[in-house]
Amino acid sequence: MHDEDGFHPVREQTRVLVTGAGGFIGHNLVRYLVDRGYYVRGVDLKHPSYESSPAAEFHRVDLRSADDCLASTRGIDQVYHLAANMGGIGFIEQNKAIITHDNTLIDIHMLEASRVNGIRRFLYTSSACVYPRRLQERVDVAPIREEQAYPAEAEDGYGWQKLIIERLCRHYREDYGLRTYVARLHNIFGPSGEWRGGREKSPAAICRRVALASSDEWIEVWGDGMQTRSYCYISDCIRGIYLLMQSEHCDPVNIGQDRLVSINELVDIVATIARKSIGKRHDLGKPQGVRGRNADISVMRTVTGWKPEVSLEEGLERTYSWVIDQVRKSQRERAERAEQAVLGAAVELRKAVSMALGDLADLIDRLCIVNLKIWHLEEAIRDNSKPDEEIGRLTRTLTPLNEQRATLKNRINELTGLGVQDDKIYGGSITSGDHDD
Ligand code: NAD
Repeated sequence: MHDEDGFHPVREQTRVLVTGAGGFIGHNLVRYLVDRGYYVRGVDLKHPSYESSPAAEFHRVDLRSADDCLASTRGIDQVYHLAANMGGIGFIEQNKAIITHDNTLIDIHMLEASRVNGIRRFLYTSSACVYPRRLQERVDVAPIREEQAYPAEAEDGYGWQKLIIERLCRHYREDYGLRTYVARLHNIFGPSGEWRGGREKSPAAICRRVALASSDEWIEVWGDGMQTRSYCYISDCIRGIYLLMQSEHCDPVNIGQDRLVSINELVDIVATIARKSIGKRHDLGKPQGVRGRNADISVMRTVTGWKPEVSLEEGLERTYSWVIDQVRKSQRERAERAEQAVLGAAVELRKAVSMALGDLADLIDRLCIVNLKIWHLEEAIRDNSKPDEEIGRLTRTLTPLNEQRATLKNRINELTGLGVQDDKIYGGSITSGDHDD
């Protein structure tokens, strides 16, 4: 069944919309929901980067537009709203205006469209970046609890925007009865996330740098590497998001891990997985975010029974193996592109040479003909029996032929690069006199 936008919901199943379905978490969530028998519509600016989406429908839309949000939520029961303009710490620190602008438009239009289209459940993916900096200034930071988001002092830009939309979710719930859920995600990692290009997060960036380094080389680490984080593997995150949506707990809740590691330790774990001895060169000029961040996940455990199941080492092993495949694939593709470029250049060169040779043969033919004409004319001029008027006419005919000959010789010189003045090459030996050409 198609409606006017080409969207075709099937009525029998629970109809779910995943926004950001071309992104890292969204794509994995689509697969999880499809496996559980949901009818899934995925929307995003782009298709998933590494494999096609298993969603029943996938639409490329721009959710900054209210109309696209309305079309995307039409005929849908539940919304998992993940779409956001985001990236790792380098990206979010350097793009505050565009991130706040885009994500605010996306989020307010998605909430309003969900209200208009009678969505029954709406889950918003917020972030650990909503927590105050003052609680994250030590590397041995305590796991942060949900209520500690206030008094607010969120990460400038990305974090403040998430915090305000968390509140807007509550207002929509309280004022309009839209059942909203808020998952505060903490450093989700795993295969099929961004691994290069500037938006990648620390686990993928470290896996890439280690994959590209030889043993006994060093890799660049942002900051002094003592900053600490906790990392949650993608499958645990997806299960957590799903369980939260089935619950009755509508206040913001942390989904993450509570094992704290430093970035230096993260590098060592990845180097061990890669069986390489990797040194670290610390770049203190690069952004490093808060000094320490850890997640208290007790609320999530209590309200849903969820707990993370994949250890950091296991998750990094899977991620490293995926990243190294991507690195090899991209090296192969680069080599193929270089080979194609060289072959293409050779074909062009062959074409150019054969065209030039064709031109040269043609010029030489024409020069021979001109030389023959000149020779005949000169013979005729030397014939004393001819009247003076006839000699004058023949001499005048000679002038344009000599000009033609000069032009042809210049063209031949240009093509061959010989700069030859040797008349033998041009059949000049058959001419009897010196010509000023
Ligand atoms: P991602 O960048 O891989 O996915 C986000 C997707 O949103 C992208 O595919 C992007 O194309 C899409 N998008 C951006 N602008 C859009 C627009 N105007 N219209 C339609 N689609 C648009 O990020 P992710 O890691 O999968 O994160 C998903 C959600 O989880 C985001 O809301 C993010 O803020 C939140 N989150 C993620 C993490 C994490 O560690 N990955 C941590 C905290 C919060």
